[in-house]
Amino acid sequence: MIHPWNLGLFRQLGTDPEHMPHAVLLHGPAGVGKLDLAVEFARWILCQQPGLDAACGLCDACNWFDQGNHPDFRRVEPMEAEADEADAAPAKKAPKKGSRVIKVDAIREIGEFLSLSAHRGGWRVALIQPAESMNPAAANALLKTLEEPPERVLLLLVSHQPGRLLPTVISRCRKVPVPLPPRDAALAWLRAAGLADAVAPLAEAGGAPLAALACAESERATRREAFLDLLARPRHLDACQAAQSLTLPEAWGWLSRWVHDLLMQSLAGQTYYFPGRATSLASIATGTALSDLLALQRELALGGRWLQHPLNAPLLLESWLIRYGEIAGDRT
Ligand SMILES: [Zn+2]
Repeated sequence: MIHPWNLGLFRQLGTDPEHMPHAVLLHGPAGVGKLDLAVEFARWILCQQPGLDAACGLCDACNWFDQGNHPDFRRVEPMEAEADEADAAPAKKAPKKGSRVIKVDAIREIGEFLSLSAHRGGWRVALIQPAESMNPAAANALLKTLEEPPERVLLLLVSHQPGRLLPTVISRCRKVPVPLPPRDAALAWLRAAGLADAVAPLAEAGGAPLAALACAESERATRREAFLDLLARPRHLDACQAAQSLTLPEAWGWLSRWVHDLLMQSLAGQTYYFPGRATSLASIATGTALSDLLALQRELALGGRWLQHPLNAPLLLESWLIRYGEIAGDRT
């Protein structure tokens, strides 16, 4: 499915199939439909009778694609890293449990697949997502394919964080930014998807509609509200207990947004992610030094790189929460 706000991009991509680049990098924030756009584009390229805005959905190619066995299409996603992985950095502990990477073998396999001629005499398409999950060896293997691309081959790379890709990989791709949709379009789509109150989830998701759907999921919303209740009373925050009961990526996301909103309150008297918490945020921001908030924001930004390598998630989270409790100025 192509989301309505990405339809213009889809048409642009397909304007001139005979002069298609060998590699396209779709990049933008998480939750704006980049992957769906890439999948639909692959399906369209391989379709035997494509329409202007979509694959036909009826031909043999579409049927194979929909069943996940089109012979000229491959999709590469991260696998759990194994402890004996030769091309990963050595480590004393076991940091790779839970880390998800795209390994060199998967990319070499893609290189071989693309070097064969297409079963159907048309395109061969490979989709790599998220491309920043490639470890250095995998990225270098991809570079070889990008340097000498076979004919009628399309590599689709999807990335939330293109800054983590090798510059040499980026420079060999056509870069296609997939931006946030206009707010009204996002709200209309969320409401059509059955979300009666779409404003708060869309704000929390920073304007990304698919991420907003996840934010609205009821169990997650309950966990979030409980965590925000803790953040709203920093003086009573038991960092150790809170850190034990939360998962790192989720808590990191909420805490980062909370600190961002505190900064917004300090600087502009506004909230961005949690408008329903504006009163608490304003109260805490009033008594908190701007320099402390900026320092914590930097610390959290740096911490983001550890989310896929949770060496000791509770400890990391606890240290941020302790720091937050020390600097947050609310004394209610
Ligand atoms: Zn078709």
